[in-house]
This record gives sequence, structure tokens and C-alpha cells, in this order.
Amino acid sequence: MKCPTHQAEEMKKAMFYNTEVDYCPICLGVWFSEDALVQAKDEADKTLQWLDVDLWNEATKFQVGKTAKICPADFVPLYQVNYNHSDIKVDICNFCHGVFLDRGEFKKIINYLKKKKADEILHHYLRSLAQEGKEIFVGPETFKEEVDDFMAVVKLFNDKLLVQHPAIAIFIANLPK
Ligand SMILES: [Zn+2]
Ligand SMILES: [Zn+2]
Repeated sequence: MKCPTHQAEEMKKAMFYNTEVDYCPICLGVWFSEDALVQAKDEADKTLQWLDVDLWNEATKFQVGKTAKICPADFVPLYQVNYNHSDIKVDICNFCHGVFLDRGEFKKIINYLKKKKADEILHHYLRSLAQEGKEIFVGPETFKEEVDDFMAVVKLFNDKLLVQHPAIAIFIANLPK
């Protein structure tokens, strides 16, 4: 699969908590297939308190626009979804529901979680998983120090963004062609 931004560049695989994702070696953007997002979810997630984070809570605050980025699976333009106060944008494919997150947006989401004090609860949970000896990470050195942060974002996508997909899909369907 090619990077949505660097369309000549083949993406590489990384594993986070048994969830396989693709990343671009040039921009370190990460592509999550819908399957990857669903896989990352497990029973223990249900106890997470941080679901009160208000990122992506209100469907009426979404703004959607087209981008020049291309879905690596379907070769169609990705839509950029922008949520009101957070200033965070993600790129989504309307066909396969894959999500592309570039490095800048990744950092913004982490900063947003930190502001909301939501990352503490999540990282505590991730640390206990690590103590149970679960395999955390197989992939490039560049990501190693950010594994917990990365999982915070994966779980945020799972629990917030995917839940909102019906709303996002309606917005996209109503855009002028
Ligand atoms: Zn790239
Ligand atoms: Zn797609």
C-alpha cells in the first residue's frame, strides 16, 4: 500500500498490541484500516474512564472536506474530518473507513488528551497490560518511545471516531460531487 500523501512510497508494517498498522517511512503518517481499529478493541477497554473526553462527541461539530490524499486501498481521495474546538483533523476513506493520521495530527491528539488529563488513565491501563507480559510493539525505533501515546490514539479512534462514523458518512454523502 502506498502512503496517501507520498503516493510513490510503499508503506511498512508495524504491530502495536497485536494490531497491525501501516506507516510511511518518510512522513511517519499511520494508516489504520477499519479492521485494525476494531482489532485494537478488547474487553478491558470497557472499564476505561477516559471515555468522557469530549473529542468527537458532538456530531454537529464536524466539518468535512476533500483532500489531495489518496486512499491506499481504494485509490479515491480521502476526506478530511475536522472537529470544532480541538483543531484536530484526520483523513478518512468513505469506502473502506480507513483512517490516515499524519505526524502533526498525532501530536495534536496527544496534546489534547494531556490537556484533558485523559492520557494518565489510559497510560496506567497500558502499563498494566505491559506487566502482564503482552507483546507491545514490533516495529521501527522511531515509534518505540511513543507506543503508549499511539495506543491512546488508536483507542480514541475506536471509541469515539468509529462511533461517529454514521454521522461522518452522512456529511460526506451530502457533499457536492
Ligand atoms: Zn508519507
Ligand atoms: Zn479506502
